[in-house]
Order: sequence, then C-alpha cells, then structure tokens
Amino acid sequence: MKALRLREWKTEPVLTEVPQPRPGPGEAVVRIGAAGACHSDLHLMHEFGPGLLPWGPPFTLGHENAGWVHELGPGASGLEVGQAVAVYGPWGCGTCTRCLLGIETYCENPDKAPVPGGGGGLGLDGGMAEFMLVPSTRHLVPLPEGLDPVTAAPLTDAALTPYHAIRRSWPKLPPGTTAVVIGVGGLGHLAVQILRATTATRIIAVDTREDALALARESGADHALPTGSGTGPRIRELTGGRGADAVFDCVGSDSTLALGAESARSLGDLTIIGLGGGTLGMGFFTVPYEVSVQTTYWGSRPELIEVLDLAARGQLRASVTTFGLDEATEAYRRLESGELTGRAVVVP
Ligand code: NAD
Ligand code: ZN
Repeated sequence: MKALRLREWKTEPVLTEVPQPRPGPGEAVVRIGAAGACHSDLHLMHEFGPGLLPWGPPFTLGHENAGWVHELGPGASGLEVGQAVAVYGPWGCGTCTRCLLGIETYCENPDKAPVPGGGGGLGLDGGMAEFMLVPSTRHLVPLPEGLDPVTAAPLTDAALTPYHAIRRSWPKLPPGTTAVVIGVGGLGHLAVQILRATTATRIIAVDTREDALALARESGADHALPTGSGTGPRIRELTGGRGADAVFDCVGSDSTLALGAESARSLGDLTIIGLGGGTLGMGFFTVPYEVSVQTTYWGSRPELIEVLDLAARGQLRASVTTFGLDEATEAYRRLESGELTGRAVVVP
C-alpha cells in the first residue's frame, strides 16, 4: 500500500510503498477513510529534531484519523469488521490511572506505551495511508449515526484539542463573559464552534487572514478582528474595558502570547494551544491579577465521545478541503503558505 512517510527529521515526507499492516493479538487494522493534515506535522517536518521528543522518524504521518474496521487480531473484541470508527490518537499504557480515565495524553507509564508520549502519526505509523494499525480496540470510537469519516477525522484532533481546552474554562464562561480565539485555522474555526455550542460567552476571533476571519464569522464568532497593534485595545473596548475571560491561543508565537496577555481579564484563563515557539516571560505584572496561564495537549477519550456527539447533532462541522493521498504533500504546502481555510483532509 502507499503511505506518506516522514523518513528523517527536517525533511519533506515522501509517498512510499510499504507492506499493508496485519493485526497481532488485541490489535485492529483500520481502512482509512480520511486523515487530517495538522499544522503540528509542519512543526515535525521543519522544526523538531533529535532529542526533543522521546520518539522520531521513520513513521507514516497522520494523527487525525477515521475510517472503518478492516481486520481484528486474535482476541480483539467489541467492534465489528466494517464498522465506522474514529481513532483516539494518544496511545498510553492502558493500565495507569490516567489511561483508565481515558486521559492517555498523560499516561504515567510512558515506557509501557506503544510509543512514549505519542501515537499513530506521532512516532508510530499514522493514517496518511490506505490502512493503519491500531494497538488496541479501546482506541477506536464508533462513529455515531450521521457522521462519515471525512467529517469525523478532523474532530479527533482539530476539534478534540480545543474542546479539551475550552472545557477547562467552562466555569469562567457564563453569559456576560468574553472568549478570544487567536488563529482561526483547523483548530481555531472549531474552537469558535465549540464555544458557540457549549457556552453562552461572546466570541472574538483574531487572525491575520481575511478568509480565516470570514470562516470565524460563519462559525459563530460575534467579532472577527485582524491582527495588528490595535487588536488588544479593540478587545478591551469590545469588553467595556474588562478584557477576555478566556483566551485560546491557537498560534503560540511571541506576538500572539503578548496579545493574549494584553487581552486577558483578571481571574481569567490564558490557554496556549499553538506550538508557535513563542515565549511569555512571567513576572508579577506579565498578566492581570489571577490570570491562569496554561498549556494543553490534545484531549481525553471521553471528550472525543462528547465531540462526536456534538458533531452528530449538527452543532460542530469541520470546514474541509479534500486531497488524494498522492496530493498530500500539496495539502501541506498549501497549509504552510496560508492558502487553506479550515482543515485539509487526505482521502486515500
Ligand atoms: P493552521 O495553520 O490550520 O491555523 C493557524 C491559523 O493561525 C491560521 O489561520 C493563520 O492565519 C493564523 N495565524 C498565524 N499567525 C497568526 C498571528 N500572528 N495572529 C493571528 N493569527 C495567526 O494550524 P492548526 O492545525 O489549526 O494548528 C494550530 C497550532 O496548534 C499549531 O501550532 C499546531 O501545531 C498546534 N496544535 C497543538 C495541539 C495541542 O495539543 N496543543 C494539537 C494540534 C495542533
Ligand atoms: Zn495535530
């Protein structure tokens, strides 16, 4: 079968012929219906290198996957061949407290996980291929009625990640409050929809690109602002001088972190989701009083179930552009150059 492989750090991925995986005991093979192209893959290709992560190339890209159960290994149960599934991407040991709670992102026995701190498409072979090996059926969540793999694939990361972040801030977002989403790409447009579907907060979206701001408005943002020196003051103005109760930074560069710090309201949350390489020097006056600054990584399996339910009921819909497997490198090129709106999804 064909697979888009990252062969070494700091190289472009290559479409290669590899053997079709077969499931061992307890494992499953998924026929991929769609695999999302995440900006994190660009960080993997261009910025990360040896020693930064406990895993590395070669592996097949694609950590945002959905498809159909193709083959079950001996003893793998609970699913039928042909069933439509989303792949829960972070793969832990399965037995520590965090894994039992479905929070495999923070597995406490990383050395007993299939790969420490990663998953399919992050150290192990992912879904930019016709088939993908999944080490346990607990990583497969059946798709609810009405969801197909193309719309479901981006939900496993581009929606799950902001959902997890926003869920942490729910108590701070009753009516009368304001949330800011910085960066309205794959994750950000779904962040806006999740805020709309799960809170009554006022939503301000910020991006550098007009097409992204248009998608933010379509996704339910009350205000969509271009980035610039006036953005922070404009957010203060729109909030009666108070600032935003929660800021979700889906870029994570120096300038967006500074904007987040400038726009947050006392007692608010500043959540850093983007891996843009920026830093926020922390001192007593860096953020207003009692602003909680936090990073978040992906989400839990129970949260993926909640995200799929929201989507099945029409409250969440990824805006996708589809590419064939042989066009996957073009999808990444367009993602990198800012020519894409929403999410690029590879359909093998
Ligand atoms: P994307 O390229 O689809 O979207 C990024 C958006 O940010 C684009 O619309 C771009 O125009 C906008 N942008 C860039 N610079 C900006 C600036 N200075 N001000 C405002 N907007 C700006 O990327 P994505 O796939 O949505 O990923 C976003 C980030 O989140 C990436 O860094 C990615 O690696 C990271 N990520 C983190 C997690 C996690 O678990 N924390 C999971 C997935 C992705
Ligand atoms: Zn990702």
